[in-house]
Amino acid sequence: MHDTSLSPQPRQTSTDLIHHPYRPPADFEAPQPGVFKASTVYFPSVADMRQREWKDKSAYTYGLHGTPTTYLLEERLCTLEGGAQCLLVPSGLAALATVALALLRTGDELLLPDNAYGPNKALAEAELRHYGIDHRLYDPMDPDDLARKITARTRLVWLEAPGSVSMEFPDLPTMVRHCKARGVLCALDNTWGAGLAFKPFDLLGDGLNGGPGSLAVDISAHALTKYPSGGGDVLMGSIVTQDADLHLSLKLCHMRLGLGVAANDAEAVLRSLPSIALRYRAHDQTARTLAAWWQSQAQCVQLLHPALDGAPGHAHWQALCDRVPGTGLAAGLFSVMIDSRYSQAQVDAFCDGLKLFKIGYSWGGPVSLVVPYAIGAMRPRWPTHLAAGTLVRFSTGLEAAQDLILDLDQSLRAHLPLP
Ligand SMILES: *Cc1c(COP(=O)(O)O)cnc(C)c1O
Repeated sequence: MHDTSLSPQPRQTSTDLIHHPYRPPADFEAPQPGVFKASTVYFPSVADMRQREWKDKSAYTYGLHGTPTTYLLEERLCTLEGGAQCLLVPSGLAALATVALALLRTGDELLLPDNAYGPNKALAEAELRHYGIDHRLYDPMDPDDLARKITARTRLVWLEAPGSVSMEFPDLPTMVRHCKARGVLCALDNTWGAGLAFKPFDLLGDGLNGGPGSLAVDISAHALTKYPSGGGDVLMGSIVTQDADLHLSLKLCHMRLGLGVAANDAEAVLRSLPSIALRYRAHDQTARTLAAWWQSQAQCVQLLHPALDGAPGHAHWQALCDRVPGTGLAAGLFSVMIDSRYSQAQVDAFCDGLKLFKIGYSWGGPVSLVVPYAIGAMRPRWPTHLAAGTLVRFSTGLEAAQDLILDLDQSLRAHLPLP
């Protein structure tokens, strides 16, 4: 027998750089948390690998199943929305799609408000239909219409407050009561409220947060792309719940679909979250200043902003968001109905003529945005509460309101002249 063991050799630098022994001291604390990036996560032993549980967030198994960075963001978003569990997905639309794929089965029916975020309607029309899932639209301003449309097959109702683009504010508590009475899950697209204008898991504002006497949606989906990101540079979504079993159904589907978010994107949202309340208030104040200015312009036949007296659903906004009158919040979005005497081409030229407002989708960032929308093509019929005209949606950024008004004024005079 001769010895076959290899003779000892000094380890190569390349290996030392990968398996480096230095560990920095652990007690580092700073305003922003560290960023953890991983696909692979190490286990100290095979036995540990076999028994590690990822579903309860007690440990780490694989980057897609969570890192300290994503866990931190999830917990802070639970605090923002007043929920108990959170999932992160790559966009706001992915949050809406994950809810549908996790909860709907062939033969189920889904109800959507007729003013829903357009891509959520497209998801139902073009994708869910392939799986034998039907959808129907209800009138968000008529809770009785929602109640009438709930059938034995209805499994999920989407709520949105206010409606995308046309900004009607629905009677959320009554609609949630209808869903609860019929045992149907209700999911809210809470992107506009952002956890700040009202609490989706405490719609009665009694602080009981899901306890008896309180009223809560089952699921709050949020396009973090908007206010939580605040930069116009990150796409992300969240799904917040208050029920562990419901969360687990969503989480298993989320895992099987392979959904996750990048650490650097999660970091960007973590960095913006501390200022979300200040930014939301600033966007809101600027929007109200601009809306008040628009109301005194003859070209504007209707101002769509839930906090303004006379706007569709204003009383519902007051009841939910303005319980202590004068303190309610309302985000930075509003729409203006331009008199039908002006052509679409003139309204487009007005939008093109703006210098500070950029033409672009999404909102929640520092730059003010404008988009003209064709309501006639977006709704089954022209809603009775909307005046005839051409709708232009504004999203206020963080510029000074006075500069934005000067910009609106110059383009209005140039392109939409009074007769
Ligand atoms: C923007 C938005 C979404 C989708 O978010 P993305 O991150 O752009 O996919 C969903 N719902 C509402 C109400 C939105 O405004």
